[in-house]
Amino acid sequence: MQDIITRFIDYVKIDTQSDPTSNSTPSTKKQWDLANKLVTELKEIGMADVTIDENAYIMATLPSNLDYEIPTIGFIAHFDTSPDFSGTHVNPQIIHKYDGKDIVLNKEKGIILSPDYFDDLNQYKGQTIITTDGTTLLGADDKAGITEIITAMEYLINHPEIKHGTIKVGFTPDEEIGRGAHHFDVKSFGADWAYTMDGSQIGELEYENFNAASAKISVTRKSVHPGYAKNKMVNALLIANKIISMLPEAEVPEKTSGREGFFHVHHIQGEIEQAEVELIIRDHSKSRFEERKQMLQDIVSQLNAVHKDAIVLEIKDQYFNMKEKIEPVFHIVEIAKEAMESVGITPIIKPIRGGTDGSQLSFMGLPCPNIFAGGHNFHGKYEYVPAESMAKAVEVIIKICELTATKS
Ligand SMILES: [Zn+2]
Repeated sequence: MQDIITRFIDYVKIDTQSDPTSNSTPSTKKQWDLANKLVTELKEIGMADVTIDENAYIMATLPSNLDYEIPTIGFIAHFDTSPDFSGTHVNPQIIHKYDGKDIVLNKEKGIILSPDYFDDLNQYKGQTIITTDGTTLLGADDKAGITEIITAMEYLINHPEIKHGTIKVGFTPDEEIGRGAHHFDVKSFGADWAYTMDGSQIGELEYENFNAASAKISVTRKSVHPGYAKNKMVNALLIANKIISMLPEAEVPEKTSGREGFFHVHHIQGEIEQAEVELIIRDHSKSRFEERKQMLQDIVSQLNAVHKDAIVLEIKDQYFNMKEKIEPVFHIVEIAKEAMESVGITPIIKPIRGGTDGSQLSFMGLPCPNIFAGGHNFHGKYEYVPAESMAKAVEVIIKICELTATKS
């Protein structure tokens, strides 16, 4: 396990924060620092066909050691970290044999990671917890995934008695800004299916995510002096407010869970003559997702009939529920589930209330469920990962390779 910890700490110390305002790929130059290092390491452990393209997408192959053909599978992780919180000078703290009490991340600033608030910590008593020093995020999302994949590949290379087919490895930039799959060359990756190692707590296995769209509503009206406005003024702000009030009140993120969808208004700005509302639409069910978009159209049409086409609505699909692409090849979930159970993990299968790179990849022709990488509290200073969870993820990867060979 010391190898895993050393490798992980090596990666998180390299700042790879991505930047949504940049148009280049990778979105930040500093992502190359870790990307180049990963290429060297993949070669050093003995992976074949290690490549990195002009967008910093890394691919590598572990050749089959079987004398018959079986499906090629892949493991994918991203090396950027979230733009939400600093990833500069990450200074990880290692807590050995965690005693179940408060962890002081930063004495000076009084920043404490407490099981009273983050009760998931309670399940890791006695384990080795890696935390931040309270001033940065940790980057277990998703450098834990990268660590696990490389460690598993190294193990398989050193243990040729474990039989496996061709295994592909893919590391991407810019997942945190929603672009991790954008330049992923599914064809040259050449896997029949893959797994992203990018989930949170030990046991997580995910193959359902939201269908997602964004909507922008612009209202334009004429202003008149309020003293003479009777029967003349039409206030764009009030129309914007009316639209929001016509959306179902209980179908918002703060009142929904599981597979319940929502409308989420996240931006309003305006004046009397011009107002803008931005919202996102989410639903696991494709038909309810379509109904939601239609409902918004209907509200706008209804108000446009009264206000002479003052309102322009623009809806953009963002991503879709991968379930549609996974169900026809459901054995790929069964293999992951069996792999977890055989190394003593209870799978936690639940719908993701968000999207993953795997959902985009699934629609690009590479079915791609998501497996835990082990971390908690992503994108902030309370992020932590138990080393034991990373070690278990390594076992799961190895087991999936084995099971694919014996079951095919
Ligand atoms: Zn991630």
